[in-house]
Amino acid sequence: MAKVSIGLRGWRFEESEVFTEDGEFKPLDEMPEEPRDRLVRLTYLVEQPCDACYLVHGEAAVEQCRQAAIVYGEPGDELLLCGTHEADFLYWYREAGGKAYRGEPTFRDRFHEWFAGGGRAPDGYGGLDHVETDPENMPDPPDPEEIHRRLNDNFEGRRIDMREGWDDEDGDEEIDLDGVDLGTDYPSR
Ligand SMILES: [Zn+2]
Repeated sequence: MAKVSIGLRGWRFEESEVFTEDGEFKPLDEMPEEPRDRLVRLTYLVEQPCDACYLVHGEAAVEQCRQAAIVYGEPGDELLLCGTHEADFLYWYREAGGKAYRGEPTFRDRFHEWFAGGGRAPDGYGGLDHVETDPENMPDPPDPEEIHRRLNDNFEGRRIDMREGWDDEDGDEEIDLDGVDLGTDYPSR
């Protein structure tokens, strides 16, 4: 049983739930519901900018934002970060009270507030202690276009538009995730 990240670091997937033995994505209807929903959500997230970059540059200069490399938090309430801003996030989480909001719906907003208010990690703040998973056994994560193509190929006649699919049900993004182990990632300390 191996856990792998796909597309973005952060969320972990049980390899056998989403990949065939050949390292290809399974058809979506053969995946358990929870990882499938996160995987589909991921195909939208991989093309989004880093939240912190976005707070700095805004929609008017969105092209100056770096693309997200890491996803923290729960589906529908994710925090997306580039490699540079992950240090700020980790500092907030560990040293500036962020950990108290772990798993809460306000998790992302609290970080945004802190960052928008000028919160930053001190220069040289490190602590990027990512655990290297066994690279030999990991399927190559496909790029976003490839994920889109495969998912849509596998879901004949039902093209996936994550932006709509996620929002449409009740008109807001609140999702009841109480008590659900989503396998989502938070810093380990
Ligand atoms: Zn950034």
